[in-house]
This record gives sequence, C-alpha cells and structure tokens, in this order.
Amino acid sequence: MAPSPFIIVAIDGGAASGKSSSSRTLSERFNFLHVDTGSFYRAITAELLRLGVKPDDLPAVRRAVGALRLGTHLRGRSAEMEIGGRVAGDEIRSREVNDQVSHFAAIPELRAALLSYQRGLADVGRAHGFRGLVMEGRDIGSVIFPDADFRFFLHADPVERERRRAGQGQHDQIRERDRLDSSRKASPLTCPTGATSIDTTDVSLDQVVEQMSAMITARLGQA
Ligand code: C5P
Repeated sequence: MAPSPFIIVAIDGGAASGKSSSSRTLSERFNFLHVDTGSFYRAITAELLRLGVKPDDLPAVRRAVGALRLGTHLRGRSAEMEIGGRVAGDEIRSREVNDQVSHFAAIPELRAALLSYQRGLADVGRAHGFRGLVMEGRDIGSVIFPDADFRFFLHADPVERERRRAGQGQHDQIRERDRLDSSRKASPLTCPTGATSIDTTDVSLDQVVEQMSAMITARLGQA
C-alpha cells in the first residue's frame, strides 16, 4: 500500500486575522506539525535588538544574521526556533519587537536566511511521524510552499483585529505592521492567486476551522 501523503497547509494573513488559533486547532485535529513563522521573525528581531543591531544598518544585519545558529525544538505539536541553542521567551511579544519586527522582516537577506530553514520543517514533521504540516505567516502560500496542498488567506476588518489584540493585553500597531508587510518588495503580504480567501470579521473561529477542516478531510478521504 502506498504511504499516506504528507499534507502541507499554508495559512497567511495580516496580524490578528485568526491564523494562530485556526492553525493550532488544525494541528491538533489532524496531527499536523504547527509552525508559527511570525514567531521566527520575532525571535530573530529580539536577538538582533539584543545585539544592538538596527534594521537600517544593513552590513550589521547581514553579519549578525550570517552568524545565527538556528535549530528547532519541538514543544508538543509546535516547532520552535532555537537561536544558539535557546528558545526565546515572552520578549518576542514585547512592544519593542512589535514595533521593529516588520522593519527587519523587510530585509531580503534576512528572509533568504529563513527560506530553507522553513522549508526544512516539512522534513522535521515527516521524521517525527506527523501527518502533515500547518505553517502560518505572510508568505507561506506565495513563497515558502507555493505548491502546498491547501493555501488559505485570512483577513478581517482592522477594527475587529485591534479589538482581538487588545483582548490579549497587547500593544500592537497592527495597521502599521500590515502596511509595512504589504508594501515591502521582498515577499509582501498578499493573497496568492488560487488561495482560498476567508473573511474572519464576523465568523467564529469554529466556523473558520470547520471550513478548512471540511476541505482537508475531503482530501484525506481520497488518499
Ligand atoms: O505573525 P506575527 O504577527 O507574529 O508576525 C510578526 C511579523 O513577522 C509580521 O508583522 C511580519 O513583519 C513578519 N513575518 C513575515 N513573514 C512571515 C511571518 C511573519 O514577514 N512569514
């Protein structure tokens, strides 16, 4: 009998669009490895800030990024990034990181350094017996896994998204991050052609997950 296919699900969208909640739920439901690539950009931002590197000092960014030793730690079903053998903590959600992350994420060399690392997580998922991978971010369906089995793009009204962030007790300029993320040259935030676009403004997380799950279940049923 042919082995079951390894399913790749890409979920992209702006800040607080519902990516994390839905991808975590899908990872539980289908035994997928969960990867939050925003946490990678945040961890690298926190590390560069710790080293005193500014996003407008490109030679320093290049040097620091080139010297990063990246690894992966599995916590439950989630892949966490290690930098120099350490997984970053709550500092990646700090106000300073919220303010700076989109500036670092716009630097092509930094994105290039993460490209193969992110793609390689599919092998990590296979090696650990997961049924697939659900990866959330901004450029997953467009750049990292353009041939993913499923590509979802979540969006919601900015007022509703700000309300969600405030409910999490976070100060986060999501409109400004979205503006920077959408307008940058390198891998901008955009709904890739052919992706399934879902407006999450007025629907519950359960409804979003049910829509995604129905499509995935239909595919698994054919496998
Ligand atoms: O998902 P989250 O809001 O935590 O992402 C933080 C930031 O990381 C984004 O605003 C964006 O600048 C960057 N990012 C990115 N590409 C990804 C994931 C995140 O540029 N795939």
